[in-house]
Amino acid sequence: MSDCKVVKFGGSSLADAGQFRKVADIILSDPERKYVVASAPGKRFKEDIKVTDMLYACYEKAAKGEDFEKDFSAIEKRYNDIISELGLELSLEKDFKRIKDSFEHMAGRDYAASRGEFLNSKVLAAFLKFDFIDPAGYIKFKENGTFDLDTTIMLLRPRLAESEHAVIPGFYGSMPNDTIRTFSRGGSDVTGSIVARAVDAKIYENWTDVSGFLICDPRIVDDPAPITTITYQELRELSYMGAGVLHEDAIFPVRTAGIPINIRNTNKPEDMGTMIVASSDEASRYVITGIAGKKGLSVINIEKDMMNSELGFGRNVLRALEKNNVSFEHMPSGIDTMSVIVATDALKPVQQSVLDEITFRVHPDHLYVEDDLALIAVVGRGMRKNRGTAGRIFSALAHARINVKMIDQGSSELNIIIGVSEEDFEAAVRAIYEIFVLTQDQ
Ligand code: ASP
Repeated sequence: MSDCKVVKFGGSSLADAGQFRKVADIILSDPERKYVVASAPGKRFKEDIKVTDMLYACYEKAAKGEDFEKDFSAIEKRYNDIISELGLELSLEKDFKRIKDSFEHMAGRDYAASRGEFLNSKVLAAFLKFDFIDPAGYIKFKENGTFDLDTTIMLLRPRLAESEHAVIPGFYGSMPNDTIRTFSRGGSDVTGSIVARAVDAKIYENWTDVSGFLICDPRIVDDPAPITTITYQELRELSYMGAGVLHEDAIFPVRTAGIPINIRNTNKPEDMGTMIVASSDEASRYVITGIAGKKGLSVINIEKDMMNSELGFGRNVLRALEKNNVSFEHMPSGIDTMSVIVATDALKPVQQSVLDEITFRVHPDHLYVEDDLALIAVVGRGMRKNRGTAGRIFSALAHARINVKMIDQGSSELNIIIGVSEEDFEAAVRAIYEIFVLTQDQ
């Protein structure tokens, strides 16, 4: 493990000159922050448009042969405003010209979107007086479009070693034929993780506009407590909740190398944020680490006498779903019953065909669908050491007069999943939060 830190700044952290100054202060306050991954300028205010979205819209016009001059000027202005307010002697005119030409020559949607991070990183590199490294030559995708970690590390590692300090644009790399390819939206998080892996960083700091994860959704519970430390595995279990803070694919490049990720807030650098680690012996403050959930689920209930002795029963039910392209979330079962939980949106268009297929394959005694189910995942490495967690959850729910429709505890004892009616969802999350966090703090 080296002694350097890789830092990634999201779009809102680099949306204007004021934000650039905060970012520079953060980077320059710690000499170990050597490699910086930058996003494209994000929103400066609620109704603002992210540069990435402006680029997509602009390219769409170009692809239709429409005039995109005005739209492109608005993009140029975003960068020129930052450059002039920072008092930099940098001109992007040649880049603007080249990008416009490429738009006219149909360089592709991914190329268009990638220019947001490309240009922003040039500005940030000039401001910090760091090297600029274009990931097009180093971050590689395979022919089938999936990311190629091995080739990337082989190419990127020696290049980074040549630079004492560098800014690397996030979000893109290139295909074997050198055309630009982007990750999915929010993909600069993935680039940050790749760079951290390539230099074997001691930490990957992901700077954004929130101070890390909260125990539960602040739209359900007022001012929930922050999560100080979470393991990669817990985060996966809570993946319904992490949405929007960290790209899901940002975990795997660092996870195998044991590099922790620290989510930090550019606007509140004094907050320590959330640490995402491989494993933690740190006794968590609460038995649970987080509560997350989602609505919009349906249960397919299948009942048949002697189901347990019928060979291949489960496989036949799942084949019926597979044939209709529906994936399942959970599958709690009893001796003569089986319930398959699926997303309502995915089931509805093919529901009759799924039910017909199940009937044909397993001849159930009863088969029916219930809608309006919500699932809540209560996750925590602390559960293994504490007895009575499930008991506390269910007494809290009973106390709040909430009917529990389904229970599923993973064998890792890291999570308990509870199914409730959609209308009880918020009240259930509040009741669980209260019993594990509020009463503990009193
Ligand atoms: N700028 C890209 C997006 O808006 C990538 C990123 O910010 O991570 O999705």
